[in-house]
Amino acid sequence: PYIIAEPCVDVKDKACIEECPVDCIYEGGRMLYIHPDECVDCGACEPVCPVEAIFYEDDTPDQWGGYVNANVDFFDEL
Ligand code: SF4
Repeated sequence: PYIIAEPCVDVKDKACIEECPVDCIYEGGRMLYIHPDECVDCGACEPVCPVEAIFYEDDTPDQWGGYVNANVDFFDEL
């Protein structure tokens, strides 16, 4: 799946939510998260993010690698 990383924190622009065809982007306390089982890898959200916070999981920059699990953990804790 695609994931959302640190640039979204305290931004939550939500342009991605408008683009997602399967409505799998959800709002958390300080950022948005992509549901890893619902994302269909379409890539539509990635270019519309104004802070470039969205990455295909395998392409996530190393310094934000922890955000891959953060997107999974968010839904595990609901
Ligand atoms: Fe939604 Fe597509 Fe982005 Fe996955 S890649 S979160 S399905 S817009």
